Order: sequence, then C-alpha cells, then structure tokens
Amino acid sequence: MSLSPSSLNQYFRCPRQWKYQRKDEVKPIQVDDIAARFGVNFHEQIIPEYYRSISEQPSAETIADTARQVFDREFDRSLEDLRGRGEACLNGFIGFEQNRLKSWRIYKPLFVEKEFESGGFHGIVDFYGSGFIVDWKTFEGGGVVSTEMVRQSAVYRLLLEDAGYPVSEVLFVMLPSNRVLKPLLASRNWVEEERQRFLALTGRGEYSPHRSAFCKYCPYVLRCFHEERWLWW
Ligand code: SF4
Repeated sequence: MSLSPSSLNQYFRCPRQWKYQRKDEVKPIQVDDIAARFGVNFHEQIIPEYYRSISEQPSAETIADTARQVFDREFDRSLEDLRGRGEACLNGFIGFEQNRLKSWRIYKPLFVEKEFESGGFHGIVDFYGSGFIVDWKTFEGGGVVSTEMVRQSAVYRLLLEDAGYPVSEVLFVMLPSNRVLKPLLASRNWVEEERQRFLALTGRGEYSPHRSAFCKYCPYVLRCFHEERWLWW
C-alpha cells in the first residue's frame, strides 16, 4: 500500500476517521468546504500561475506586482467571503518571496506541485528549489512544529532524494502571517518505522475513534456518534 503523508497523519490523528474515508469509503456529509476550496485555489491556480509568470531574476517590486496581478486574475470569485484571508495569504507569500530573493542563489523553483512515489509513499510537493522543499499553508495552525509536519517533511525528503533531488531543509510557510516553521528532518528509518506501525495497527483492525477538537470539522461525525453513542454519553 502506498501512503501519502496526509493519509498517515489522518490515521494517527483519528484511526476511525481514516477507516471511514479510506477503507470503508463512507460518503461524507455534503458540506460546502469553503476552506478546502480556498486551499486548492491557492495551491493549484494562484501559486503555480505566479511561477509561470515571474521572470528568472525579478526585483522585489516585480514580485509584489506580479503576485498581485495573478491573485486578481486567479482568485476564485466563489470564495469572496474569504477574500480578506486571501489577501493576508498573498501578503505572506510576497513577503516570503522577497526575503528569499535576497539570499537564494537561484530564485526560480526547479518545479512546483509535482507528484512523486517511492518506498511505499507518494505525495505532491508544493515547491522545490536550491535544495529546499517549501510547503505552503493557507491557514495559521498552532504556530509550532507538529508531529504531523515532522512526518510530512520526512516523507517529502524520502520521495525527493529517491528521485535524485538533494534536500537540505523543508520549510512550512504559514502564509497568513509569513511565519516559517522548520522541522528537524527525521531519518528515513524513523519514517519507515511510522509506516510499519501504521501497517501493524491497521493489520490488526485498530480503528478506534480519537475524540479531539477536529471532531468539530469531521464529515463523518454523525456516523461516528451513532456507532459510539453509548461511549460518548
Ligand atoms: S467524529 Fe471525531 S472521533 Fe469520530 S471519526 Fe470523526 S474525528 Fe474521529
């Protein structure tokens, strides 16, 4: 079984949710997940279009002008309620790009939004260039490096190094604030142990629900509540 970092992280956050979504393929409650569509708009339209439009050696002003033009053109009009957050992400993106312009020898990434598969894992890497992987976050999160980021960065490094791209650091850029989080890069052995732990637990049918603040956003909450109601009351 080939695992993505999000699948592995989902399992360790809540095995029951993983089972509903990825094993049983339970139909989730249909909600308009505007936050998810916002993330897709940034990752798949706005940022890739920016890198297609920007020159090899831009000035700080060109970075800001190009990013704003692309945002005006590509921002999904059905997400108007989140325009303020979109502009905060845009400013964070411009700030990060202008900062790295000062210190990175090569400005343009080697690739953006590219899929890799190796060693029992697969995943889409947002950005790679000059030995750095960059992962854009369109939400602020807890503001500290999480175990989930450590897993994600270790999987990304494994995928890229297996494909022949050396990785010195993985940067998580929290776009709304332009804060950059740098997890220590876990070893290949550690991530393989995480994979083996996942395989052992799922192999013996370990899918217990882990109640947490995430239950509020879980699209399987009714199903879960129905199955676990005697435990929840
Ligand atoms: S409601 Fe909470 S405990 Fe139940 S599956 Fe969803 S995230 Fe897990």
